[in-house]
Amino acid sequence: MKDSQAILVVGGAGYIGSHTVRQLVSNGKKVVVLDNLVYGHPEALVDDEVVFIEGDLGHRDLLDKLFTEHDIGAVMHFAAYAYVGESVTAPSKYYGNNLAAPLVLLDAMRAHGVNIFIFSSTCATYGNPQYVPIDEKHPQNPINPYGASKLMLERVLADYSHAYGLKYAALRYFNASGCSLDGKIGEDHNPETHLIPLVLEAAAGTRKHITIFGTDYPTPDGTCIRDYIHVNDLARAHILAIDKLAAGTDSFQCNLGTGIGHSVKALISAAERVTGTTIPVVIGERRAGDPPELVAAPAKAKELLGWEAEYKDLDMILTTAWAWTNGSRKGHFDS
Ligand code: UDP
Repeated sequence: MKDSQAILVVGGAGYIGSHTVRQLVSNGKKVVVLDNLVYGHPEALVDDEVVFIEGDLGHRDLLDKLFTEHDIGAVMHFAAYAYVGESVTAPSKYYGNNLAAPLVLLDAMRAHGVNIFIFSSTCATYGNPQYVPIDEKHPQNPINPYGASKLMLERVLADYSHAYGLKYAALRYFNASGCSLDGKIGEDHNPETHLIPLVLEAAAGTRKHITIFGTDYPTPDGTCIRDYIHVNDLARAHILAIDKLAAGTDSFQCNLGTGIGHSVKALISAAERVTGTTIPVVIGERRAGDPPELVAAPAKAKELLGWEAEYKDLDMILTTAWAWTNGSRKGHFDS
């Protein structure tokens, strides 16, 4: 890839995509965003120099036009559906968008000679952990269609790499969290299902309480443990991955996490510290499909990319998310 070439960010108006776009721009990269705005927000593209194209990644005609009109050197693909529960009841939607549509994108890339691809994969490809922390050698046995659709695309990438010389990185995120430091952009899912935004809404009083999904897990305080990784750390890993592949490194898969786990109860206590509020809590049933503990072994990312999380402190992560929830988010977006 040449320095003068642009990076195509598919799903660049979404949560992780929009934070990555900002980092790319501040690193002097040219960026073209393709997003159908089903879940993305055009307001999240705050840099004027970004070229924005509204449309679907599964539209071959649109992709042919895009690759003809713009000199693209690499593609980052963030545009997946990511509601685990919905993936169980509507698998067609998930296999269609998360597997079939990217095949169209990959074939268009091949036709136009673009061969660097960064894929947002997930720790959900591992399924119920056999051991923690989870390294990349851990067996991949997803337990829902969301995780399966991501794993299937990983397999496609391995085969395309072997047969067509595609260079790819499959980055397996743990729990994406936090928001931009200036509070301009942040997490805005509709519906929102993630713990941190819901806890902070309860702190802000825009939600009555937070429900803890299960207190009888085999963990020290009975609640689930997760590895919360800041969105800016995720964004930085994507840029390092592109540079690495462009410099000739072979395709690779790696975890992106801090290596540190926090229980739901610990997270709520941290949120009370950060926000200076008492957060109303209701104890609820377990949510189907939640493994007790998901924590990354992050050594491979360090070895390969020289990457490790900068935001290892949960209070710091929550401080960025609170600045967004309680500041710019109010009135920034409709939802
Ligand atoms: N969780 C919870 N209450 C909520 C939302 C989430 O107790 O209202 C728990 C959930 O069971 C999991 C953790 O918080 O153990 C993180 O959930 P989230 O949906 O944020 O991410 P996931 O781990 O499912 O990717």
